[in-house]
Amino acid sequence: MVNRPGGPVGGALRLVTTAGAVIGGGFLAVSFVSSAFLGAFRSWAEANRKKTARSCRICKGRGFTKCRLCKGNSVIHWSPLLDPVVKKPCLCPTCDGNKVQRCLNCVGKGYV
Ligand SMILES: [Zn+2]
Ligand SMILES: [Zn+2]
Repeated sequence: MVNRPGGPVGGALRLVTTAGAVIGGGFLAVSFVSSAFLGAFRSWAEANRKKTARSCRICKGRGFTKCRLCKGNSVIHWSPLLDPVVKKPCLCPTCDGNKVQRCLNCVGKGYV
């Protein structure tokens, strides 16, 4: 018995390779489609949720609130403990001078 090249073994190997490529490609396609589907489903669910959700009562649906640290002044008057007479205006570290901060109740979404 002599193994000839291109015999049953080679053919089977080729078949397995082809099947593997098809399965691999199919798996990739399925995972791509499912992730796309999941993304679409998520955005759909989010939109649906937005429709039925109550707007946030803390920020009144705006998604942000007046900065608590600077109270909307964008600067804080920071006084060093050693010298309370001198008050140094500093850019608010919480809002970076934006005067608003993301609503903690709705995480900036505007609805809960
Ligand atoms: Zn809110
Ligand atoms: Zn601030």
